[in-house]
Amino acid sequence: MKIVIDAGHGPQTAGKRSPDNTMLEFHFNSVVASYVTQELLTYENVQVLHTHESNRDVPLTERTNKANAWNADVLVSIHANAYGSGGFNNVRGIETFSWNGNSPNGDRLAAEIQKQMMSFTKHPKNRGHKRADFHMLREFNRAAALVECGFMTNQEDLALLKSDAYRRTCARAIVAGIVAYGNLKKKPITIPVPPKPVPPKEEPFMLNQAIVINSFADYPNAEALANRLNCPIFTRNVAWGKQVAKELFVVGGTTDDLKADKFVVLSGRDRFETAANVKNYLG
Ligand SMILES: [Zn+2]
Repeated sequence: MKIVIDAGHGPQTAGKRSPDNTMLEFHFNSVVASYVTQELLTYENVQVLHTHESNRDVPLTERTNKANAWNADVLVSIHANAYGSGGFNNVRGIETFSWNGNSPNGDRLAAEIQKQMMSFTKHPKNRGHKRADFHMLREFNRAAALVECGFMTNQEDLALLKSDAYRRTCARAIVAGIVAYGNLKKKPITIPVPPKPVPPKEEPFMLNQAIVINSFADYPNAEALANRLNCPIFTRNVAWGKQVAKELFVVGGTTDDLKADKFVVLSGRDRFETAANVKNYLG
């Protein structure tokens, strides 16, 4: 759904301020508009366009032209009200307008927003859903509503209009009205999944040293060496074709089909010579 949020007036619009000069209407309107936009974007398939600008009074025709050119479905214009000719008075409350021509969707939108405004703000004065021939309502092609969130010319309403809590409440209410009107669905909350820790590359376990014997006859020779080096003894069959240690002591037989980074060959021509080599090696 394409939604136009319009903060009424502009920063330089003459007269649109509280009688005591403490609040510009545009300031209230634009802050609520930004809260509304933030909240709307948490709904699925929503696009939002602003027709106001923070440093320029955008003419009404330019606003509705922009909204229509964008092919917006909904337009909500946000305002604070005023009554009387200068000074504070007792008139207060919330009211929401739709066009007084033929705009059933605008009527439904305005009625929803008014209902949600009363429900969210708990304001004591409900001025109701009304119809009027305002430019923003008349010239926008689809459903338009104009919400007056309270009176700047009433001291109690002005205190509300100045408070951030009330502005946020108004924004939530306006969004709730649009959500009800458009049957919008909240975007699913996505909890970021932490990246899976990359397991450290495990080097295949490998002994630093091992002894390979050719046959059981070499075992006694190998045993003395194993005790000194504190390493295991493998038979040739077990050590065959794979690397079982970085450094391999060959006690009997050759290095054929054995794998190691370094060989220490202590094999002799027979087991006696092998025994002598081992003894020599051990010193
Ligand atoms: Zn206004």
